[in-house]
Amino acid sequence: MLGLMQDWPLTVDKILDHAKNWHGHREVVTRSVEGPIVRTTYADIHARAKRVSNALLGWGVKPGDRIATLAWNTGKHIEAWYGIMGIGAVCHTLNPRLFPEQLIYIINHAEDRMIFVDLTFVPLLEAILPHCPKVERVIVMTDEWTMPATALPRAECYEAILSEASTEVTWGDFPENTACGLCYTSGTTGNPKGVLYSHRSNFIHTLLGLQSTVLGATPSEVILPVVPMFHANAWGIAFGGPAAGSKLVMPGAKMDGASIYELIVSEGVTFSAAVPTVWQGLLAHLRENKLQIPTVKRVLIGGSAVPESLIRAFHDEFGIEVLQGWGMTETSPIGTLSNMTPETLALPYDEQMKYRIKQGTPPLGVELKLKNYAGQDMPHDGHTYGRLMIKGPTIAGAYFRSDESILDAEGFFDTGDVSTIDEMGFMQITDRAKDVIKSGGEWISSIDIENISVGHPKVELAAVIGAAHPKWDERPVLVLKLKPGQTQDKQEHLDFLVGKIAKWWMPDDVVFVDDIPLGATGKVDKKLIRERLKDYRLP
Ligand code: ADP
Repeated sequence: MLGLMQDWPLTVDKILDHAKNWHGHREVVTRSVEGPIVRTTYADIHARAKRVSNALLGWGVKPGDRIATLAWNTGKHIEAWYGIMGIGAVCHTLNPRLFPEQLIYIINHAEDRMIFVDLTFVPLLEAILPHCPKVERVIVMTDEWTMPATALPRAECYEAILSEASTEVTWGDFPENTACGLCYTSGTTGNPKGVLYSHRSNFIHTLLGLQSTVLGATPSEVILPVVPMFHANAWGIAFGGPAAGSKLVMPGAKMDGASIYELIVSEGVTFSAAVPTVWQGLLAHLRENKLQIPTVKRVLIGGSAVPESLIRAFHDEFGIEVLQGWGMTETSPIGTLSNMTPETLALPYDEQMKYRIKQGTPPLGVELKLKNYAGQDMPHDGHTYGRLMIKGPTIAGAYFRSDESILDAEGFFDTGDVSTIDEMGFMQITDRAKDVIKSGGEWISSIDIENISVGHPKVELAAVIGAAHPKWDERPVLVLKLKPGQTQDKQEHLDFLVGKIAKWWMPDDVVFVDDIPLGATGKVDKKLIRERLKDYRLP
């Protein structure tokens, strides 16, 4: 027997309709790429997104067409995003930090018809578009008076287009499984792969994100998504903010400590989300200038493991609760969060740390399990490593334009992460499967050593890679970038690790470098470090 409730397709245009109808005057504040702070509201954004839709329809855009954006987090980017999705076209967020060859590959693979671009990326597009024959039009998201002279074919001025387009258009007249967004993984292994979100998956992810254990957004919240919209949908904030009617503060191109601090103070930010390297930058700025950010109650840190030193610094020096999130482009991205439970909160703060550094538990809507390579379930005992498998309505079932199934017989997706799950249900990432160091048949977690090493006051960034060893297969080598003006010798650092890690995990060598490269989403790029150290041999 079927239920008798209404059929109300879960399409994301309804999120912005809701924001306009019930929180229409709430502000969206942007540090524009042109410089000034720009203030708008959900009502304005809604009207302008409708104008974007009409412009696209006028150019013959049809449902399913891929329309790209190459832009930072701004109010205009939100307008383009909803304007594209509302008419059933697919919003393909491009990551401007990718190498030009990767961008060319992705644009061609997606067959993007048009690209909305920030003023600052016009030169980048001028260089790559000759290699992207399917792109018909470029819309520069700026005013007529800041529109550059450009050699780009069919370059339109966003504000000029919007001023002529009507606000009358019907949104969402299609099934909820219609494709909605496209985001490529940054390709740390092989070519980038396209994850094709549907309206339904994004809508469900938004509801999932509104749980108080996830974003828990409310109309009183002032949210600063530093995590870019091209990094797995700004972790859901570009949907969750309007859904909850929260004020949004969009940082544009500036993500350094001083710029983030300025926005936090001037806009009264209460909640923010970013990868650890961004927070390290903010922390350094706050400490150097003896500043506080009392409006901020919680921060969501994810994308790579969160060092204990960061959690403690926010708590002890600034009274801010760190919520760690784990997820992937393939998981929309929310997978788990490090929420405390009554049992863990009952512990003294120092003992809570054992749980706070873990990636935590999944919200309703996400299923997790550990399997070994033979596909058998592994125990949740906090010790046994396994491949982390995930299932749910917001998890990818296949990659865009690939026939290969990416699910096992039980319908689980293999995350490529190796992890443990303890008796309390807290999941902890040991490593990405390709980064784990295999020494004498046992595994060493590079993440654990890195997180302890960055806790040393002289260290800015740390990365552990495996080096070939005749007897043990691989042994860990610690690569360190020290803070400006600091010096350290190998032994001093190894002494610091004594007692903090198992003896047999002790790195065989420490290599000091001037630069640890960050990848396109702000994470330490181990692939590049390995390439740079390809001639390295253990002493
Ligand atoms: P890419 O794979 O392109 O870097 P993703 O953002 O999809 O982009 O990366 C997902 C991966 O990032 C996860 O599979 C995991 O290895 C890592 N990751 C994300 N969050 C965390 C976290 N809190 N702790 C440890 N690793 C994390």
